[in-house]
Amino acid sequence: MGRYLGPVCRLCRREGEKLYLKGAKCFTEKCPFERRKYPPGQHGRMAALRRSRESDFAKQLRAKQRAKRIYGVSERQFRRYFDAATQRRGLTGLNLLQILESRLDNVVYRLGFARSRAEARQLVTHGHFTVNGRRTDVPSYLLSPGDVVAVREGSRKRRFFQEIIPEWAAQRSVPAWLERDLDNLSGRVLRLPERGEIDATINEQLIVEYYSR
Ligand code: SF4
Repeated sequence: MGRYLGPVCRLCRREGEKLYLKGAKCFTEKCPFERRKYPPGQHGRMAALRRSRESDFAKQLRAKQRAKRIYGVSERQFRRYFDAATQRRGLTGLNLLQILESRLDNVVYRLGFARSRAEARQLVTHGHFTVNGRRTDVPSYLLSPGDVVAVREGSRKRRFFQEIIPEWAAQRSVPAWLERDLDNLSGRVLRLPERGEIDATINEQLIVEYYSR
């Protein structure tokens, strides 16, 4: 199955928390989660009451689904990342998160050059970014320390990159593992992120348990 293309606010309601999938809307009162904090569907309210009695498996599954949805990755791709994480040295859970964070679409989002990962993905697919000077339109491209990401020369004159993104990016702090040059609309990967620099609400241990059943 491919990437989820349905209404994304359902996913926040399903996971019982804001996943910030919609960019600017997530920070306004229009966010549907603010009004309906229970899971979607006819029995959503009942499901919310049952949440505290979830089985271990349900908790593991939710942890995996949450991370998958935050990064906008398909089940198959997520499983591949997990397998790659087990091949690396160190903690599998942290390795998995570092792989997810090194995706080009995620780095574009973290640099503040897109308002959501979904938007970053689309901008990359449409060829607006270069990696080390070469146009790269693969959102899943994994970046390494030293790689430079920049808005492509031909795309810089667009109003989106001239006005909307500088204003958005100026309000977003950049994690310490990345370096941003807002004037040149570019950024560099300095190193892999440490655990404390990645979303603390993701429980990677439960994800490892899910795949180790
Ligand atoms: Fe989630 Fe953002 Fe939709 Fe709110 S607006 S439900 S945070 S995706």
